[in-house]
Amino acid sequence: MPVPKRRTSKRVKNQRRAHDALTTPQWSSCAHCGETVLPHRACSKCGYYRGRAALKIAES
Ligand SMILES: [Zn+2]
Repeated sequence: MPVPKRRTSKRVKNQRRAHDALTTPQWSSCAHCGETVLPHRACSKCGYYRGRAALKIAES
């Protein structure tokens, strides 16, 4: 089985990890009820997506 010849230097390791940072998701507000929602997903509060009811949310 192949094994690395040399230990990866701190510099190379850190250069590789320079692009690994996580980004926060872009939130938007629901056009129907105003709740904050993740893009391309039906609203968890009213079930609306693109102006129509995509999910049936049980009334409580
Ligand atoms: Zn909504």
